[in-house]
Amino acid sequence: MKTRVRIPGLRLLHSPGPTRVPEEVLAAMMRQPTDLADPRVPALVSACESGMKALLQTERADVFFYAANGHGGWEAVIANLVAAGTSILVPGTGHFSDGWAEQVAAFGGRALRTPYVEGMPIDPAAVEAALREDTARQIAAVFVVHTDTASGTTSDLAALRKAIDAAGHPALFVVDVVASLAAAPFAMDALGVDVAIGASQKGLMLPPGLAFVAANERALALAGDTPAPRFYWDWARRRSDLNYLKFCGTLPIAHLAGLEAALALIESEGLAAAHARHARLARAVHAAVGAWGEGGALRVFTRAVEARSASVTAIEVAPGIDPEALRSVARERFQVAVAGGLGPLHGRVFRIGHLGDMNEAMLLGCLAGVQAAMLAQGIACGPGGVDAAIASLVA
Ligand SMILES: *Cc1c(COP(=O)(O)O)cnc(C)c1O
Repeated sequence: MKTRVRIPGLRLLHSPGPTRVPEEVLAAMMRQPTDLADPRVPALVSACESGMKALLQTERADVFFYAANGHGGWEAVIANLVAAGTSILVPGTGHFSDGWAEQVAAFGGRALRTPYVEGMPIDPAAVEAALREDTARQIAAVFVVHTDTASGTTSDLAALRKAIDAAGHPALFVVDVVASLAAAPFAMDALGVDVAIGASQKGLMLPPGLAFVAANERALALAGDTPAPRFYWDWARRRSDLNYLKFCGTLPIAHLAGLEAALALIESEGLAAAHARHARLARAVHAAVGAWGEGGALRVFTRAVEARSASVTAIEVAPGIDPEALRSVARERFQVAVAGGLGPLHGRVFRIGHLGDMNEAMLLGCLAGVQAAMLAQGIACGPGGVDAAIASLVA
């Protein structure tokens, strides 16, 4: 395979992260760094903080930025809230909640789980039952993955907040919005979310490398009571007006410049319009998969239709079909990059990312490329996938 020859035209990126970076964001990131005493630096930080608060719809939380990926965001939360022996409820959503639970355990925490049912979102009744069972009120927090990117399944945060309240449990509500923010509705304060975690390379349309955590007073108070050693991740140390403390050293200035530009793009589109666009593109993908699946070769992995993610669709293939071979043909022959299956779904699904800087033409190009790759592979898919997507878009 030749990897160094220039390929004419665009190569479509439909991974659910990293996602395409808009030109406006690339241009902002190309600016030369400034002297850290330059007044433009605090102005940039304050624009990023206020823009993130607006995007998260919070007035109550402080926002902390880390030069890190999403796992760094998870670690920031764990380092502040989990001491040896701390119990955390991590409801099962598949691969990403499994990974987060593993990280809790690595810090000496006890990760309690609710069962994961493939194709389904988190069952709020299971969360309520687990919290009711905890009569000693030892569970410090519930760590929820809003959209599990491996399965393309989004859980209902309002229902989960209700479940915590119905159990009368004081546990913090901590939500990973890495894959959902800017693609699906999320209102931190209205949902009663105490901590939200995200990363730059998905709906925020930046390259990987910047994580953020928003934490409200309840979360900061619990962190203050948590006797775990920490330094780089420490919210208390970072609650400062001095950028040197706020970022625990030099700030990731290029990523913040990119974030400022990305937040401006989201604001100019309008958040509700951005959500509607993601929902529309997602429906077109579901329509395409439905038509391809006539004959039984493939189907949308998330059976619960209302829980299908606006960001990414996992497509389950029938036994005998190799999704990795399909990906490779789609990428190398048709210039469309889609994602593979993670963890237990490896070899069972491929995934189409439809989040971030994405429009109808790009999505139709992706679907046509995937359809061409399926035909090239001799997969017995229904022929009407692209037509079904177009019909969904014009409806
Ligand atoms: C991508 C992702 C992560 C991990 O992010 P990395 O940047 O790969 O560490 C965590 N949670 C969710 C839901 C994700 O989609």
